[in-house]
Amino acid sequence: MVTRRSFIQTVSNGIVYTSVAGSGLLVACQGKSDQSKESEKQADQRKEKKKGKLGIALVGLGKYSEEQLAPALEETNHCYLAGIVTGTPDKAEKWKKKYDIPEKNIYNYETFDTIKDNPDIDIVYVVLPNSMHADYTVRAAKAGKHVICEKPMALTVAECDQMIAACKEAGKMLSIGYRLHFEPYNLEMVRLAETKTFGNLKKIKAENGMNGTEGWRVDKELSGGGPLPDVGIYCIQAVRYTTGQEPLAVRAKEGPKKDKEFFKEVEASLTWEMEMPGGVIAECKSSYEEDMSLLRAEADKGFFELKPAYGYSGQKGETSQGKMDLPKVNQQALQMDDFAEAITKKRPTPVPGEMGRQDVKIINAIYEAMKTGKRVEIPA
Ligand code: NAD
Repeated sequence: MVTRRSFIQTVSNGIVYTSVAGSGLLVACQGKSDQSKESEKQADQRKEKKKGKLGIALVGLGKYSEEQLAPALEETNHCYLAGIVTGTPDKAEKWKKKYDIPEKNIYNYETFDTIKDNPDIDIVYVVLPNSMHADYTVRAAKAGKHVICEKPMALTVAECDQMIAACKEAGKMLSIGYRLHFEPYNLEMVRLAETKTFGNLKKIKAENGMNGTEGWRVDKELSGGGPLPDVGIYCIQAVRYTTGQEPLAVRAKEGPKKDKEFFKEVEASLTWEMEMPGGVIAECKSSYEEDMSLLRAEADKGFFELKPAYGYSGQKGETSQGKMDLPKVNQQALQMDDFAEAITKKRPTPVPGEMGRQDVKIINAIYEAMKTGKRVEIPA
């Protein structure tokens, strides 16, 4: 069971990591003319850097892996990029050189299951299109690896159950890529709500969207839906962690489509409401046709909000008493380091499979409400 307290504890731990992040990073060799000596020294340094850290293999080398996770793994203290799984030989070659990955730690989708024989890989990080999350998580667990799975955890609750069961059976841990649980501004929203600094919550507003998307994200079979499971999921998360409560019921309405042909399989936008215990209503909105990023809480004695709220960086916070001024962190580095530490210290992760399962349950209730026009209760 993840409590608010353990969430806050973890994030504050995370902030401590950042202040020391980089301390173990490669030191540039300057003034050396002898190239072989230099590369030998660099190889030693790399070996040193990996010592005592858990090895992560990224599965799927798309945008998120390339632009966020791999660079973040250069800043982590408890884990490092040990391997890759890709269907594209060119990418394998490029990554191998860039990150000094040994040939034996490079897999494709056909050889993936043999990862079980590789002691360099402790954690498999599934960064594939949504419909592939369940299969690769279950296979990674069967290969005896801990798993981080990207959001949304899967398309159905039944798949989530299989993923959780597979990890349990293998005695391995499962976490979901919920990076904002390691981000100080989002953490501050949790603290302000929990301490009732501005009194009891009255209303929450959560909006997340972007103008434009592409590829598998508009293919329903691969994505499971439109902006809701992709970026709207951050609104569901934000409401859950800010209130510390689970929604009882939802109502939803699909938005109009500017480009009907492009969005023929999935919604282009939607609005939904979540009824929280005690009467707080969360008003949410998500879109692939509009930029937005807001988390606003209104309480008896004031407001507190983040705008933007959900990006990889650049959060800005304001309350009725003034602006927030909090440290900047590498969210993904903290998220992966926390999981590595959870494994070695044998403590729970604050972002477990059960949390991802609950979001999948809520997403499916929102879609049912959108389809039927009715209020849909979230099943227990
Ligand atoms: P992407 O399209 O850039 O990358 C997807 C990767 O999967 C590609 O390398 C592609 O080659 C590979 N792939 C393998 N089989 C495929 C198939 N059948 N069809 C299409 N691609 C296939 O996507 P991305 O933005 O990197 O997203 C990957 C996952 O990461 C998604 O689940 C997404 O929700 C998640 N994500 C999370 C965050 C976050 O902030 N936590 C941010 C971006 C993406």
